[in-house]
Amino acid sequence: MFFIGKKPNLSSRRIVVAGANFAGLCAARAIPAGWSVTVLDPNPFFEFLPNIHEVISRRKSPESLRLDKAAIIKRAGHKWIAQRVAAILPDKKQVVCDAGNVFEYDALILAVGGENNTFGIEGAAQYAMPFKCADHCAAINRRLENLVHRQKGIKVVIVGGGLEGVEALGEILRAFGRHPGIKISVVEGQNRLLPEAPPVIDPVLRRHCKGLAVEFLTGERVAQVKEGKVFLASGKSLETDITLWTGGAKAPDLLYESGLAQRPGAWAEVDKHLASKAHPSIFVAGDAAQLESALPKQAYHAMDMGRLAAQNAMNLLGGKELATYSPSAKPALISFGEMDAFAVSGNKVFAGTIFNAAKEAVYQLVMTRMDSSRPPTRAARASWRGAQGALNLALGSASSLSSLLALGKIRALR
Ligand SMILES: Cc1cc2nc3c(=O)[nH]c(=O)nc-3n(C[C@H](O)[C@H](O)[C@H](O)COP(=O)(O)OP(=O)(O)OC[C@H]3O[C@@H](n4cnc5c(N)ncnc54)[C@H](O)[C@@H]3O)c2cc1C
Repeated sequence: MFFIGKKPNLSSRRIVVAGANFAGLCAARAIPAGWSVTVLDPNPFFEFLPNIHEVISRRKSPESLRLDKAAIIKRAGHKWIAQRVAAILPDKKQVVCDAGNVFEYDALILAVGGENNTFGIEGAAQYAMPFKCADHCAAINRRLENLVHRQKGIKVVIVGGGLEGVEALGEILRAFGRHPGIKISVVEGQNRLLPEAPPVIDPVLRRHCKGLAVEFLTGERVAQVKEGKVFLASGKSLETDITLWTGGAKAPDLLYESGLAQRPGAWAEVDKHLASKAHPSIFVAGDAAQLESALPKQAYHAMDMGRLAAQNAMNLLGGKELATYSPSAKPALISFGEMDAFAVSGNKVFAGTIFNAAKEAVYQLVMTRMDSSRPPTRAARASWRGAQGALNLALGSASSLSSLLALGKIRALR
């Protein structure tokens, strides 16, 4: 694009970033100091969500998964305001916060993620414990600790046998599995565990739980949750001392109310540049974005999207061509407590506890990269080196594959 007359003064163009965890914080960090950037997010901490399951077993504390958002944003040369965006007025290019403040923007980067989804099931929000942040997992840990000190038989119901439910089960078994009389029921609406992953993992998980007091109720839907009881649509009911809700995420109402999504509960539709299809000066990144071909809602995609949204916000304001988002192929790492872990790359699945080390290494690496003031610990360096082989394998390096398979550290699942 050519400019007639003076080039625009970029420092006077306002970029607002709404939501600053994986996508929003990466976006803010990708914009050089000198631009006028305001970051709005009520939460003072960046939180590494992929490892919150470890808070249930106290392998990690909530604090160990957090970074100080204010310091990171200040170091990037931008302003953070601890407020929640209540409304977006695209025609006026304004966002309104719940405290009433109004912020004007020339480009908006929206990265508000998703919310706990109880699918409107009666009693779920009231009686089931959510599993969406480290504080939720700390509350689950406290409740379980309390129960094991008070009574012998404990009945745990986990609603949702996807990634969150499986990782939660692994940590409950790690920390509380030896408690006499504990019984865990996992309820999953689809016919197998981890419906979003290849089917080969389901039988492996069931084999690990053989002989343990775990029952899998797949193809069963929860109809109602009450104090001490979970009712299934099939007419069965389960006694429960603690019910965990790991049933997935839904889009925040803000997306529909702002005209960025076509119906309530839908994600914001974006084009290949991550620009909203309804309002092109709004870029949507991370879980909140709905691309033409759906992507798994994963932190590594959110971080890449955040950086691209930042680039395109600057390109738009600078009159440059917009860049195209192409998702990178990275393996999903799923941990199953101390028993196993899986790396899923397309249709390929590898199993072995070494992938827990890989997951730990990714956590250490992302925390260090997000906060450049945080020096890499010796443990971080060691776990990164140790996990390199496993990650290379999952990314497709044949030499690591044969050596690790030969060592018996990894199984290829078919
Ligand atoms: C239990 C669990 C396990 C997971 N495991 C993995 C895994 O193993 N690997 C993986 O890659 N991914 C995993 N994920 C998914 C990953 O965490 C998400 O894909 C990622 O967090 C998405 O990043 P985001 O920035 O889009 O949203 P989020 O991380 O959800 O951040 C949204 C931010 O927006 C803020 N916000 C919300 N509403 C507003 C508002 N109205 N105004 C201002 N700010 C707002 C929030 O405070 C938050 O800071 C897991 C998620 C969960 C919950």
